[in-house]
Amino acid sequence: MELDLTQQFLTENDCYQAGRTIKPQGVMVHSTGVAQPDPMVFVHRWNMPDVAKCVHAFVGREQIVQTLPWTMRGWHAGTGTSSRSANNTHISFECCEPAGHTYQGGEMVGYDVEANQPYFDDLYQNAVQLTAMLCQEFGLDPLEPGVVICHAEGYSMGVASNHGDVLQWWPKHGVTMDQFRQDVSSAMDETGKDEEDDMTQERFNQLMDGYLAQRAGLQPGDWSAPARKWAEEQGIISGDGDGSFRYRSFTTREETAQMLYQLSQSKE
Ligand SMILES: [Zn+2]
Repeated sequence: MELDLTQQFLTENDCYQAGRTIKPQGVMVHSTGVAQPDPMVFVHRWNMPDVAKCVHAFVGREQIVQTLPWTMRGWHAGTGTSSRSANNTHISFECCEPAGHTYQGGEMVGYDVEANQPYFDDLYQNAVQLTAMLCQEFGLDPLEPGVVICHAEGYSMGVASNHGDVLQWWPKHGVTMDQFRQDVSSAMDETGKDEEDDMTQERFNQLMDGYLAQRAGLQPGDWSAPARKWAEEQGIISGDGDGSFRYRSFTTREETAQMLYQLSQSKE
């Protein structure tokens, strides 16, 4: 699946202005906690001073908007009970929630699971693909503990503030974070296969040259020693400029003609 990923950095946000960087060691998944499916609404709302929060991307049903460079330190996790913060380690994105529900004490109220299933399926796929892309880019294993986590898990681990996302929402659709991590891992396997298929003529030529050079470097077998000695003495086979006879490599038609010519000359 192709990701519709565009960039709209929140340059007016204090977090962007602070301009600190991280070496990404994981991805933290959030949800916005408000019934607003349009990522651009958040992009406009957060692109100003005094917002006091900032994430790397907003994931919607049809598009993903990247709002910070992936290696910039975001403001999304707060501080956990261990006094550490996933802000220093994790790339973050907010999943936009569909329209129609409200919140009461951190619980969704009036959320229609069945009606929202198609929305959720699309958004979930976007979240999986984005996380797989980030894990690929930064060499992360989504199945390693603590690498791909949601905000609520971050709180349990002591590296994020006390928020329930995305566990107030995703389990309504039967999705656990363990399932998410598995799906991210599978998506990475898929893209890996795509890249292997991404063969160009140029790449093939490089590989072929390497293969031929390897063949040329192999030692000939003892069984052919008398024949090689004869061919070399008759001048039928001569080495290249470096003195290599390239015995285990292929012969071109040009070389074949030259060998036959030498043979005919040697008989005279
Ligand atoms: Zn959160």
